[in-house]
Amino acid sequence: MTAATNLGYPRIGSRRQLKRALEEHWAGDSAAASLLGAARRIEEGALREQRAAGLDIVPAGDFSLYDHVLDAACLVGAVPDRFGDPGRGSVDLTTYFAMARGSTVPAMEMTKWFDTNYHYIVPEWTAGQRFRPAWDRPFEALAAARAAGVPSARVVLLGPVSLLLLGKAKSDGLEPLRDLLPGVLEVYRDVLRRLAAGGADWVQFDEPCLVADRAAWELEAARRAYADLARERGAARLAVVTYFGHVGAALPTLAALPVDALGLDFVHGAEGNLAALERLGTWPADKALIAGVVNGRNVWISPLRERLALLRRLREAAGPGLQVGPSCSLLHVPLDVAAEEHLDAEVRPWLAFARQKLEEVRVLARALDGGADAGGALAANDEALARREAARLRGAGMAARLAAVGAAELDRPAPYATRRAVQARRLPLPRWPTTTIGSFPQTAEVRRLRSRWRRGELGHAPYRSALEAETRRAIALQEEIGLDVLVHGEFERTDMVEYFGERLEGFLFTEHGWVQSYGSRCVKPPVLHGTVRRQAPMTVEWARFAQSCTDRPVKGMLTGPVTILQWSFVRDDQPRSRTCWEIALAIREEVADLERAGIAVVQVDEPALREGLPLRRADWPAYLEWATGAFRLATGGARPETQIHTHMCYGEFGDIIDAIAALDADVLSIENARSGAELLAVFRDHGYAAGIGPGVYDIHSPRVPPVEEMAALLEAAAAVLPADRLWVNPDCGLKTRAWPEAVAALRNMVEAARRMRAAGTGA
Ligand code: GLN
Ligand code: ZN
Repeated sequence: MTAATNLGYPRIGSRRQLKRALEEHWAGDSAAASLLGAARRIEEGALREQRAAGLDIVPAGDFSLYDHVLDAACLVGAVPDRFGDPGRGSVDLTTYFAMARGSTVPAMEMTKWFDTNYHYIVPEWTAGQRFRPAWDRPFEALAAARAAGVPSARVVLLGPVSLLLLGKAKSDGLEPLRDLLPGVLEVYRDVLRRLAAGGADWVQFDEPCLVADRAAWELEAARRAYADLARERGAARLAVVTYFGHVGAALPTLAALPVDALGLDFVHGAEGNLAALERLGTWPADKALIAGVVNGRNVWISPLRERLALLRRLREAAGPGLQVGPSCSLLHVPLDVAAEEHLDAEVRPWLAFARQKLEEVRVLARALDGGADAGGALAANDEALARREAARLRGAGMAARLAAVGAAELDRPAPYATRRAVQARRLPLPRWPTTTIGSFPQTAEVRRLRSRWRRGELGHAPYRSALEAETRRAIALQEEIGLDVLVHGEFERTDMVEYFGERLEGFLFTEHGWVQSYGSRCVKPPVLHGTVRRQAPMTVEWARFAQSCTDRPVKGMLTGPVTILQWSFVRDDQPRSRTCWEIALAIREEVADLERAGIAVVQVDEPALREGLPLRRADWPAYLEWATGAFRLATGGARPETQIHTHMCYGEFGDIIDAIAALDADVLSIENARSGAELLAVFRDHGYAAGIGPGVYDIHSPRVPPVEEMAALLEAAAAVLPADRLWVNPDCGLKTRAWPEAVAALRNMVEAARRMRAAGTGA
């Protein structure tokens, strides 16, 4: 019989109970016991749901109070010294949350989980680090699974290889996987022994790092690790699971591991994994293949018959021990389409959230075994797909429009040098021009205004005039501070993607479609389901209003096509590249309208350009080609005298500097306050000619940096790059800051720029 299985389930609860329980606990309003009680209810509820969904093997221990990578770090006792860990016993909750969120000492770093929008806590590795078993959650999970009556539980652990690779070496010369694996393995062996003794049927080691390019020695480390672990398995069966891509050249190593099952992703790595299976020839007889065939990262129904055909092929190749599952943990999708009351009736049947995905998994497993009961579900799926295809064909006009995009539309009408000259005439800016990234503090009052307006409690006219007052005040303040290029403040926007999604055709919004971003933070990504078209200008009124309040230039502020794509659930019935270009066309129309409204500077933010990079380097060029193409399509129509800015909030450009240059923006603002001059050397070495605004202060902290500190950063920048190309700005938007600190920091920033002018640095 084919087993229906899963790799992980949403962990925030059906009504974001985890968020509430965590926030109450952090605010000191609830004791640890009540947090743990709420957590246990969510965890057991998820286990029961998965059992009721007809799964044969149910993941346990995938639940987390904050983050599964942090859990794995705690599992091996990897608590950085600054948290005052006693070095024995279990990590207590206070320490656990201090690691995640900081206390009197800074939190651990957070970064994106592969190419998803989930953030994990980055483990810290030091030379000679000692490890110990220090986290009991996996054992509690086993008990929870038993309490929930699941037939067969598979305890999920982040595998030791990925744990080490995902962390950051804090000692010079330390190679964590090479140097720390033995110590980490000792703990994993102990945990495995105890899980086996506790009656775990299966233990699942997630090794997503194996879908990226890996050196031979790294694969050899993985081989040794699992050979070592397998000796401790007792009666438990072991699975090594990969997702988010194909394992490529690692397959022979993985197939030879002494484990009982291997998980491969046939959604995101389909072609590569099929090719790797082909090259492998014979699938090892001692192993089950866990086939990830239902997309765990997107919200669309699967093409069931096509998936079934694939499963038949896989069973042919890998034998009858096949297990059917999603491509990855369902952590990345909302819980239940049925919870939505106001969904567009046409789109609803195309959607599948976690609960619907489990049903697909069950149907596929039964259908593969020839079960007659799957017939109805397959027929309903056929019908929904047919309707979706018919809707797709309605977008044919857009296909023609995109096919007609020629090189001329991607190129600005004049080269940078020419643009620079005409822009200098139109915008008489001083040297070291100062600006900000766009948003100003989103006070409780502004948020209240917006939500009252959204709920219909506040009429359009009073809402508008309240925001106008806010904008006018922001403009006056910027003039008074002495900034050169102003912004309107983005008070009308809840979120830089949602704002545009709500105004573009082709998007819909859910009521309960929350997914965890990190800890208690959840996001509700827009669902991009159809052809994207701009219906009307989206930002022009606010830009025009703000510009009418001042003689200084005010930047038009747009979110770029790649970022809108990256931060939405995107249709899967056409290539992402094409959808991205549809968005680009809409932004292009907006740029043109802003120009017509007299706006001289337009900023198109692309903070997600880099995170969209594929996991394998071989796939980078194709991605960068269409992603930079989308930006160029969005901005290429701008007249030479319109200054195009772009903004990215990170500082790693070494790998993608050619693509950054290919954007052909006039000014690029980047995060740099904590990176220093090395980052800028990348631009120098590349010969990057256009304007650059390396952030001079970190907006994540309320700290107000003194003038000298920012002036020193500007001096350092001028030592690397021509001073007449440098702009002065913070690292990112100021919406999370309070007004007093934002104003104080900007005053210091403007003063730092004045000192540079006075000193004539680089002149
Ligand atoms: N213009 C946006 C802001 O200032 C940019 C935000 C971002 O880069 N994430 O808020
Ligand atoms: Zn930013």
